[in-house]
Amino acid sequence: MTDCTRVTVTLDHEVVAGRNARADFRQDTYQHIPGSVLRGALAAVWIRERGTEITSSQSFLSAFEGDGSFGPLYSRTGYPVPLSVAVHKYAPGDDCQRRWWDRARGENATHCEQCSAPLEASKGKPQESVELIKRTMSELDAGGVAKDGQLFSQSAIAAKTRLSGWVFGDAVHGLAVGDEPIITVSLGSRRSLRGQVRLTTAEEVPEPLERRNDTDVVLRLASPAVFCDEFGFPVDTPDLTELANLLDVEVEPITDKWVRWDEAGGWHAASGLPKPTERAVAAGSTYLLRCDRAPTDDALRLLHARGIGLRRREGFGALYTAPEPVAEAACESS
Ligand SMILES: [Zn+2]
Repeated sequence: MTDCTRVTVTLDHEVVAGRNARADFRQDTYQHIPGSVLRGALAAVWIRERGTEITSSQSFLSAFEGDGSFGPLYSRTGYPVPLSVAVHKYAPGDDCQRRWWDRARGENATHCEQCSAPLEASKGKPQESVELIKRTMSELDAGGVAKDGQLFSQSAIAAKTRLSGWVFGDAVHGLAVGDEPIITVSLGSRRSLRGQVRLTTAEEVPEPLERRNDTDVVLRLASPAVFCDEFGFPVDTPDLTELANLLDVEVEPITDKWVRWDEAGGWHAASGLPKPTERAVAAGSTYLLRCDRAPTDDALRLLHARGIGLRRREGFGALYTAPEPVAEAACESS
């Protein structure tokens, strides 16, 4: 299998995780480390160690601007609840153990069989929140000086939290400068995640993507994905030729999909200007692939580590397998 590495970060201190300040001065909060943030943090170490000249070297370009992938780093239960999943519309009672009904697995119930309450589609939120700490801070001006009387609340991911994900292909070489593995990185900027974390790597391969049956495969997005049609217009479905090549099977046009649109933007740190936004398919989006024959386990591991679509080196198009629905076994045995 092509080069891939599991990356785990451990927070020695809390990491500020605010993003997208809202009009009410509260902030949405990162529950994971996007692949783009990991890539930026690693590239910053290269530049610190070797100077800005390194950015025009072949080794830097292939690691950070090549065909590899930097996936998002999540806690074990922090992945989005897949959009194909239906959940209780209202908080279930204590006696009701089952949490997920997955349309991608043919579970099409509209009501819970235990409590009879109605179900609704997942919105792609994390299955469980990471531990967060609220901090009230004074607002800083552009020079980092506190402004008078301007307090705001900010979330931080608690110390000791562990998050992990996959780095694939040439991007794996970004994890070391020369022969020296990178063991600490500073995340992000004033605007989003920031803090120092310890980084460990393990030469593992991911589990194969989920099989629905002998020939069909369930594809779930761990991060937003960018797909284009032949004219370069955004579409909400992955490219069949890309999938067929990676899985070495024929794939039927995709009809069973549970998707939402998202906007992929960002902030260009050097210029202080927003990047142009692009339409992306949201994390948690799920596709049922119908193949003409069974893909091999190795092909399903490769696709899992690599991801799909465009801008994978910027963290787009990462894949995951859904964790076991919470307590489903308990429900079935009752
Ligand atoms: Zn129920």
